[in-house]
Amino acid sequence: MYDVIIKDHFSAAHQLRDCGGICENLHGHNWGVEIIVSSQKLDSIGTVVDFKIVQDKTKEILDVFDHQLLNTIPPFTDINPSAENIARVCFDQLKEKLSSYPILVKKVIIWETDHCGASFYESSHPRGSGDPL
Ligand SMILES: [Zn+2]
Repeated sequence: MYDVIIKDHFSAAHQLRDCGGICENLHGHNWGVEIIVSSQKLDSIGTVVDFKIVQDKTKEILDVFDHQLLNTIPPFTDINPSAENIARVCFDQLKEKLSSYPILVKKVIIWETDHCGASFYESSHPRGSGDPL
C-alpha cells in the first residue's frame, strides 16, 4: 500500500461537557490535523493522488471550524468536540468529499497539543465479527 500524508491546522475553542475537570472550561487550541490516504496502485504519473486535492478538500472542512467555538457547530452541538470526535467527523466528511477518487481515506489524526492527539480510522475487523477479543 502507498500512503499520502498531508498536514493542516485550525484554531478553535471548545469545552468538553461532563468531563469533570478543567477541560469543561472554555479554552482554545491550535489544532493540528494529519490526513492519510492510501492506494494499492499508483496512477500513470506515479502518485496516489495529487496532494492539492486532499489539501483543498481538507481545507473546506477545517474552514468551517476555524476561529469558532466548536460546541456551536453541528454535530458538536450534540456530541463533545473531543479530539476523537473531531477526527471522526473530519474522516466522514473527507471520505464523502473524496468518494469520486480511487483512494482510501485511511486515517485522520487530530492533535490538541504538540503531545496529545487522537485518531480515527475504519477497522477492517469490526468487533463482533468473530475476533477472539
Ligand atoms: Zn481542549
